[in-house]
Amino acid sequence: MARTALICGAGGFIGSHLVKRLKREGFWVRGVDLKFPEFSETEADDFVIADLRDQKNCSAVIDRRFDEVYQLAADMGGAGYIFTGEHDAAIMHNSASINLNVLEGCKNRAIKHVFYSSSACIYPAHNQTDPNDPFTREDSAYPANPDSDYGWEKLFSERLYLSYNRNYGMQCRVARYHNIFGPEGTWTGGREKAPAAICRKIAAAADGDAIEVWGDGLQTRSFLYIDECIDGTLRLARSTVNVPVNIGSDEMVSINELVSMVMALAGKQLEVRHIPGPMGVRGRTSHNELIAKLLGWRPSAPLMQGLQETYPWIESQVMRSRGSNARPYVGTAPRAVAQSHGHQIGA
Ligand code: NAD
Repeated sequence: MARTALICGAGGFIGSHLVKRLKREGFWVRGVDLKFPEFSETEADDFVIADLRDQKNCSAVIDRRFDEVYQLAADMGGAGYIFTGEHDAAIMHNSASINLNVLEGCKNRAIKHVFYSSSACIYPAHNQTDPNDPFTREDSAYPANPDSDYGWEKLFSERLYLSYNRNYGMQCRVARYHNIFGPEGTWTGGREKAPAAICRKIAAAADGDAIEVWGDGLQTRSFLYIDECIDGTLRLARSTVNVPVNIGSDEMVSINELVSMVMALAGKQLEVRHIPGPMGVRGRTSHNELIAKLLGWRPSAPLMQGLQETYPWIESQVMRSRGSNARPYVGTAPRAVAQSHGHQIGA
């Protein structure tokens, strides 16, 4: 009989890629989300449109002893959503409710293997003030001082999952993702991350135009390509590692360097105008010693390789949104893709 998996947040960026991977591995997959994937038809065997803030909906979708559960659903977004302060109450209420309900549902069905996606945003702000030397080793999370309420909720939920391990004999695994990017990720609307926003701005600009970049562009980050994120997720989910582990790249670049890389890919020379905007911490990269030690693996693909896959996809989205012909991007379905199956509960 096929192994079974539940993916919460299967309509989102990472969740929809994870569905595809688990289907390739031969799983029977149920996806659940508030929405279908935006850019391609879901490959889940069963896709349920449901609000996981409601415990009744959680009980309904967790109706069996799944072999693996992946909890990726969260109220999240890029800096434009998380760091303005305007959405703090919604972020904390919505994401905490989802985590409390999903985990309780799993406990009630005696499900052992639950993966939870935490974030680099849990790391203390005071360790990320130097753009050239940010510190994100896993054990530096405490004393806690995340720079956003999004990070505080993630930290609370990490503890929640680990407490179910201790008190109920579950085997929850917790990853701290660092800036995941790739095709079929949000690229516009305010929730997109830096690589997608920069690709969009450059794709939309004509040679000689100016593009706007938040802050002075000297802030540093690392970005992990989606395929490697899924590799790390599955390795961690199926391991015996019972502490939170970073899943991210340690190739740190400044935002200005990222802009230059994308311009080179696009073959465009554009003026960069630095404007005030939410920036998050000054520097961040993934500290990868623990994952290498515990899993014998760490992400290794160069950033440029992932950008080479991502830029043409975003360019095609920009062109399509303007109604013109883009350079074709093989393997991408049109936006607002029709879904042939799926059903709704709790509406
Ligand atoms: P995403 O926003 O694309 O996916 C999250 C999904 O959760 C969305 O499709 C959304 O509709 C769904 N969701 C939100 N509220 C829901 C609810 N009440 N009921 C059901 N579904 C709901 O985000 P993503 O980039 O795929 O991220 C997945 C997870 O990884 C999130 O928990 C996020 O916090 C975490 N994470 C992501 C990154 C990154 O760089 N993408 C970095 C750190 C952590």
